[in-house]
Amino acid sequence: MLNCQQFTDLASDHLDEQCRGWKRIDIRLHLIICRHCRRFNRHLDRSRRTGATLAKQLWRTDAASSEKIFSNIQQTNKPTGDS
Ligand SMILES: [Zn+2]
Repeated sequence: MLNCQQFTDLASDHLDEQCRGWKRIDIRLHLIICRHCRRFNRHLDRSRRTGATLAKQLWRTDAASSEKIFSNIQQTNKPTGDS
């Protein structure tokens, strides 16, 4: 069973779906029992998606202003309400 430090070390790889076999099972078991790491995982995922969305928006030629870009990001990454 993973502890929280071990989970956080693997969280990015988990989100990238780089973890396989028992490592993946250990991660999923830890997420079932640890609400702190579930929250950490959710925030890490949201931050990564926001960064990816920002990068895409910045590279789009039709983005008129930074205000429009951030508005689009907020719409794309609204919390789902499951805390
Ligand atoms: Zn934990």
